[in-house]
Order: sequence, then C-alpha cells, then structure tokens
Amino acid sequence: MKDMVLLGDEAFALGTLHAGLSAGFGYPGTPSTEIMEYLIDNYERNRAKDAQTPVAQWCSNEKTALEAALGVSFAGRRAVVTMKHVGLNVAADPFMNAALCGIKGGLIIAVADDPSMHSSQGEQDSRFYADFAMVPCFEPTTQQEAYEMAFEAFDVSEKYHVPVIMRFVTRLSHSRAVIHADESKIRPQNKLEKADRKEWMLLPALARKNYERMIAKQDELVAYTTASKRNPLVLNPKRKDLAIVTGGLGRNYFLENLEDYKAFCEKKFPGFGIPSTLHIGTLPLPLDSLKKLADTAETILVIEEGQPFLEKQLRGVLPQNTKVVGKFTGLLPRAGELNPDLVRKALGLEPNKTALSETAGIADFCANLPGRPPQLCNGCPHMDSYTSLNNAVAALVEKAGKDNVTVNADIGCYALGGAAPLNAAESIVCMGASIGMARGASQAGVKYTFGVIGDSTFLHSGITNLVDCVATKTPVTVVLLDNTIVAMTGCQPTMLPSSQFEPLIKGLGVEPEHIRVLATNPANREANTKVLIEEAEYRGVSVVIMVRECLEAFRIRNKKAKK
Ligand code: SF4
Repeated sequence: MKDMVLLGDEAFALGTLHAGLSAGFGYPGTPSTEIMEYLIDNYERNRAKDAQTPVAQWCSNEKTALEAALGVSFAGRRAVVTMKHVGLNVAADPFMNAALCGIKGGLIIAVADDPSMHSSQGEQDSRFYADFAMVPCFEPTTQQEAYEMAFEAFDVSEKYHVPVIMRFVTRLSHSRAVIHADESKIRPQNKLEKADRKEWMLLPALARKNYERMIAKQDELVAYTTASKRNPLVLNPKRKDLAIVTGGLGRNYFLENLEDYKAFCEKKFPGFGIPSTLHIGTLPLPLDSLKKLADTAETILVIEEGQPFLEKQLRGVLPQNTKVVGKFTGLLPRAGELNPDLVRKALGLEPNKTALSETAGIADFCANLPGRPPQLCNGCPHMDSYTSLNNAVAALVEKAGKDNVTVNADIGCYALGGAAPLNAAESIVCMGASIGMARGASQAGVKYTFGVIGDSTFLHSGITNLVDCVATKTPVTVVLLDNTIVAMTGCQPTMLPSSQFEPLIKGLGVEPEHIRVLATNPANREANTKVLIEEAEYRGVSVVIMVRECLEAFRIRNKKAKK
C-alpha cells in the first residue's frame, strides 16, 4: 500500500494508470486539466525506459481527443479522454455515437463540471449527457474514490460495452487528500485485439440494432448501480416523514453536518433517529433502492452538487404522492456551488457559528472587501494588441457609426480584454464563435467586423469558421492573437508552432497579401492600428496575426532552460 497526497484529478489519473490504461487524450480546460498533465508527465518521464508507458497527448479539441480514444478502445485497449464540461458539447457527436458502438477496451470520458463558473461560461451538469446517451456515470466524492472508481469504470465499460462518464466538480478536482494505492492490484494493459467491425459500423441498419441493444442494456445497468457499494442505502423505517438522497459533493456537506443533525433529530423526534439516506455515486438511478426509500418516507430531500438532475429524475420515477424537495422547491439554491452552510439550512439546523464569524470585525471586513475580477497580467501581449484594436475600432466607428463595427471575441486569456479597462469585446460565447459571429454580423450588414481569437482556440474550432468565411467570400477581419501557448489553463503547448499559422491560413484560401503577421508591443501600437484599419477596409477575408509570447510561458521556458 502506498500513500500519496494528490489532487482529485491526479488521484483519478493515477487510478487509470494502475487500472491498465493504454492511452489518454484531452483538451485543456479548468478544472480537468490536471488529469492529462499527470498522465503526460508520466509519459514524458517513462517512455524512454519503457515502451509500454501509456501514451498521453493533448489534442486540437475535445472531439478529436474522444475520437482518438475511440480508436484505442476499438483496438481493445483502455483509454481515457479528459475535458471540462463545455468541452463535452464539442465532443457530443462522437460521444452520443460511441454509446451505440460495442466498446471493446474500457473507455472513460472524464468530464469536470464547474458549478459557480469559477473559470467557465456556463454551469452545465454532465450527468444530463450521461442520461441522454444512456451511459453510466460515476461521481467520486473523495480523492480515494476518484482513484478506485477508475478501476470500476473500466470494468463496467468492458463488461457492458459502453463508454462511462466520470464526473468531477471543481472542489474535488482541485483539492488534495491522502490516497491509498494498493500496488498489488495494478493491472497490465489489455492485449491488442480489435473489436468486431459490426459493432462499430454505424450504418442505419446496424445502428438501429445497436440502439435497441443499448436500450435493452439499461435494466442490467440499473441492476449494477442498485448493487453498487457506491450507492449505499441506509433505511430507517421509524422516520416516515423524510428521507435524504445525496449526490456528488452534496454527500460531503451532509456528512459535515451529520453530528449536529443527529442531535437535532434526537431533540425533535426522540428515539426515532435520522431519516433514511441514499447516496447516488453511480448512474443510472438505482431504482429499487429509490423505491425502498420512497416506501419509508413521505418527503425526499435531494442534496446534490450541480443542477437539479437527481431531483428531476426522482419526480419522474417516484409515486406521485412522494414529495421531492431541493433545488426546484427553493430549499437549496439553483445556481452556484453548494456548501456545508447551505446544506445545514436545508436540514433545518441553526447557522454554524464559525471562529471567523465570531471574531469581531473580521466577517464585516471580509464582506466589504472589493471584488477582484481576473485581469490580464501586467505586460501581457494582449494589452498591446487590444490597444491597437481599440484605436482602430474608434476610428472606424467615427467613420461609419457604432452599429457598423463589431468585435466578437473568444475563450482564453484574451477574453479578459473584454472587461474594463480595455472593454475591447462585444461578445464572448464559446470556443471558436468569434469568427463565426463576425461572419454572421458581416452578412447582416455590419460593415467592419472583427473576430478576435487565440492561437489554440483557432486550432480548436476557429479554423472551420475561417473556411466558411473564405468559401462565402465574406468581408471579415480575423485578429489572431498568437501568444504561442495555451495560457489560461496553465501553459500547455499549442498544437502548432507560430511559424505554421501563416502557411496554414494561406492553405485555407486567404489571399497571401491579406495575411498580416505583426509583432505586438508598445512601440508598434500605432503601426498595428493602421494595419488593422487597412484590413478592415478590405472587402474580403483578412487575417491579422499578432504575435508575442505570453509572459507566463516565457517564465516557464526560462526556468526549464536554467535546469
Ligand atoms: S498568462 Fe500570458 S496570455 Fe494570459 S494574461 Fe498572463 S501574460 Fe497574458
């Protein structure tokens, strides 16, 4: 037995390695990034001495990552693919169809949700995707479970021939705890053995059969989750008023209040104990356990991290006379992360008096601290690029009016330029949307449209929008902010070096004289503004590549060079 202190993401990554992983793929996205970083570090350190070291690589986007993982599974070996919650939207096409393939080597899709949107543009809950595709979903609540569930998820994937979602949330992904790894249980990788082609040819006649087979598997999967130790049911027939269902980190917050809740129940219902409980750590819903729970209680309180997924499902499967309460009924908030205090309140307990709240003045002091929104680093290259762009936009607005100029931006560090003091963007929607929106605005009649996008985001999903602009000869100015790195998620490498962008864009059909490569720095601000205006005036597709290395990447590169 080996004990280690690991992040939730790292504990899971180690679990996949110990469970016989052959390959991992992903696209960086907070809070999932550390899973792949752990696997890549293992790959880089060990591949020279051991050719069997599991491959671990970043990909252009979540779709390509999942498709690579599907290829590994098809070859009979175990694969993991990692992404943040919104990344699953990008990978939704292969994901939904993977559910209909006869998964051969175990396939885990590790998705990290971000309730409270600490570093995201939405709060979506990946359990809905699992339900949509009818595939199992595991939800660890501790670092130890994250480690152990890697083994179980591969087993389920190979036994039932389905992909499995492993759902993380920020608090688990990014917190550390001791995990115990039983090294005697380390498994070898699967041997190479291709899947039956009939299981993977999703032509209509075969896909129809696969879909029916997927539906037929649901009873087996429910039987599995009902028997799973990850879904413990503790019945207390004495308490007929209430039962409690927990999901994800909701369980931890419930357990944190358990001693006080026991005392509260003893006072209110002497000798009756606390209500029956069911924790749901694996999906689909363990229906028998839920029915047993509903038989004991009139009301079920659902405490779950994320959107009210379980609450919604329970309303559909439980008898009409069973009342379900939680986020839909306002007992817990619909938006944002849960915490022990919110759960405490939902249980009917008095607010906890913490050391901090009792310390005179400190609580008031904290409550009155000004907000500290994220900002571009001092000296960030995007500062110079946006200053040039803002000056160009100001000149164009003066000439044509504000409704004739748009700046659509994208996801990355440069999104921070959308906020004060630069206020340089009018939209930030999703990966790659900047160029598509600029094209749409142009076709709607806006004279000057800019699509601002980073180097990695361009390769992720901006490139196809540029193809659309070229194919339709739409006047658009793409401003490609090349900081040579995927900065926002911790400086992962961009899939192509800076030198490749110009020939790539030329190959897509942009006229060579309208691909302008500029060094972005304070001395060039004015000259760069002129170029941006010139290209905006061009009635075709132009791409202005503004290049300078991210300061953080520069620091990391220097540190490595000194080693
Ligand atoms: S990490 Fe790099 S790209 Fe991001 S704000 Fe800082 S300097 Fe700019």
